[in-house]
Amino acid sequence: MKSTILLEHHLKNLKLSTIRNEYKDVAKRCAKDNSDYETYLLRLIEREVDVRQQRAMERRIKDARFPSIKTIDSFDFKAQPKINEALVKELLNGEFISARENVLFIGNSGTGKTHMAIALGFAACTAGRKVRFYSVTNLVTQLLEKRQEQQLERLQKQLGKIDLLILDELGYVPFSKAGAELLFEVISRAYERNSLVITTNLPFNQWVEVMGNERLTGAMLDRLTHRVHIIEANGISYRLQEAKKRSKRRTSKKTIVIGHKPT
Ligand code: ADP
Ligand code: MG
Repeated sequence: MKSTILLEHHLKNLKLSTIRNEYKDVAKRCAKDNSDYETYLLRLIEREVDVRQQRAMERRIKDARFPSIKTIDSFDFKAQPKINEALVKELLNGEFISARENVLFIGNSGTGKTHMAIALGFAACTAGRKVRFYSVTNLVTQLLEKRQEQQLERLQKQLGKIDLLILDELGYVPFSKAGAELLFEVISRAYERNSLVITTNLPFNQWVEVMGNERLTGAMLDRLTHRVHIIEANGISYRLQEAKKRSKRRTSKKTIVIGHKPT
């Protein structure tokens, strides 16, 4: 009796909570299959390691601040036949992150760019990478705010520790001059140090319109595209396709017309 109290006390101090919770059950199982002491110890430690890895992964996914969880399993490539499925699937292995390469999803709205970007981020989290998702507008707002509060350097340092930075929806809102410069700095710092995944509805020749400065845009594109995988998504909006399917089912009974093609 005394020995278990002492054991649990030590395990608590050593923060081996899974071993503490499970050592009795594992002992019973090991006794049943006549396992030796080493096997018992191994099984216990494996449990501790597994639980810790699981928790760390959950923490990484939480810290990534995905707006919603999307994985590639729920992505219907048949709905977007123009997307390079083989490339997306290859990128899921995360080698582009080791190689500090970037990924750009370019295409019109509703074609699954954000979905795929999150799926890449999620896969990276499960592989032990630090990931952070931002809407570009949000990031720029934060950068401007932090600069005003003299906290810019701190945020930049935090961003520098991220293995994969996802910048969603470049091009929907143009930036102020200061905003564009701060975004440029993030991209410059990431160059050859961290990987970026960017989603945008803008072809390259229109980036200057949101950045507002030709030289800055040129320099930014230069860094971004030095080592980049480009995935074009120029199909019909997925939601629109779904809406059309629904309306087709309904119009077979009644006449309802919905679902215009977006411009
Ligand atoms: P985009 O970022 O290109 O505007 P989203 O990724 O936000 O598009 O997609 C809009 C919605 O449609 C999301 O809920 C997304 O999960 C879903 N979606 C888009 N494309 C697909 C697809 N091919 N298969 C499954 N769901 C999709
Ligand atoms: Mg999007």
